[in-house]
Amino acid sequence: AMSQSDDAAGELARRARIFASAQERYYERPPQIERGWRHHLVDTTGRAYVDMVNNVTGLGHGHPRVADAVNRQIRILNTNSRFLYRELAEYSERLLALVPERPSDAPGDRLDTVLLVNSGSEAVDLALRLAQAATGRKTIVSLREAYHGWTMASDAVTTSAYDNPDALATRPDWVHVADVPNRFRGTYRGEETGARYAADLGADLDRLAAEGRPVAGFICESVLGNAGGVMLPEGYLAEAYARVRGAGGLCIADEVQVGFGRMGSSFWGFEQSAVSPDIITIAKPMGNGYPIGGVITSKRVADALAAQGQFFSSAGGNPLSCRVGIAVLDAMAEEGLQENARVVGARLAEGFRALAERHRLIGPVHGEGLYLGVELVRDRESMEPAAAEAAAICERLRELGVIVQTTSERSNVLKIKPPLCLTARSADLVVAAVDRVLTEGW
Ligand code: PMP
Repeated sequence: AMSQSDDAAGELARRARIFASAQERYYERPPQIERGWRHHLVDTTGRAYVDMVNNVTGLGHGHPRVADAVNRQIRILNTNSRFLYRELAEYSERLLALVPERPSDAPGDRLDTVLLVNSGSEAVDLALRLAQAATGRKTIVSLREAYHGWTMASDAVTTSAYDNPDALATRPDWVHVADVPNRFRGTYRGEETGARYAADLGADLDRLAAEGRPVAGFICESVLGNAGGVMLPEGYLAEAYARVRGAGGLCIADEVQVGFGRMGSSFWGFEQSAVSPDIITIAKPMGNGYPIGGVITSKRVADALAAQGQFFSSAGGNPLSCRVGIAVLDAMAEEGLQENARVVGARLAEGFRALAERHRLIGPVHGEGLYLGVELVRDRESMEPAAAEAAAICERLRELGVIVQTTSERSNVLKIKPPLCLTARSADLVVAAVDRVLTEGW
């Protein structure tokens, strides 16, 4: 096994002195990263790794177009959104153009309004506030096993035992946690799974109304990213949205991880379920590493905020972040990255599924496009999570030049969310490396 460089050992000790214990890191013996280029990371010893982790840098690391946009705009103007400048409207219009027309029979108004902030947590926080303001109600329904952010409100709807072992016992009373519709290891499997979970959600909504705390908003990831890229069962989201709307609530799609082209076959995660949310939260890849977050909703919902006073974020929607955001959208389109996610993602998924025929540890391969989850289980029937194995496999993959990490509250899913510029050649290399590690050890 490759030993850790002196650089990295020193840096690790430095962090241990300065950082809080709640701040996690990847790896027992992490490499010290010095540079990124496209879908690669390079450490201080000059070693290059294929990066299967950095979904924030959707275009790839070190993208010149983003660098140029930052450099140019920060010399010209950076100020706040109370001033009039053209970048804010230009970027907002570009974002709105990415939202599909709502089906004519969909209730609610056009999604024609953008509020820009600086992170996913802020976007979720704002979305929850919007739902409460627009309905005049308090209760938010979120799903078990979810991660939505670290701020007080986005953390309140975060239910994953990975992030907080006491999560379910400690939610504030305005949060109701509904069952997670995981058809691979959840309450229901097989036929009619989506309808069954949606019916249970409907029963929850009825009970909440009877208790005098009717639903204001329902929030979930459109594909269960933090549960391991698990696709929602057929029909679930459409029926869940219909029931939430029937109960007078708004539907929030958290697209921070799974949206923005990563699905390949669709720009948004919610399109995988052919639904139209009332509020969309976006962040991570918007700025390719430059902090940008946002909420897309209807004017009616957004205007409800006015009853609470004004809304203002000092850096949200500033000319610099808008220029970066525009550069990211331009590069995504010119480089065909959504299409690349579709093609290379399908190749990767096929590669992992072929490995499952030879390696018993591989259970279901989740996801779509370049958001995949390779679930590792000790037994395919009982689905006993292979968490220790997954951690050891990640350490060994690092030695072989592949950076991959685990997800889900059982930490047994290899989470595949590389920059969207991943090449077929690198995808093949990753599959071959996983094959080698499993052949060596399991
Ligand atoms: N929503 C989802 C689905 C996320 O995965 C995350 C971050 N992992 C967030 C929101 C919060 O985003 P941020 O870290 O930018 O605050």
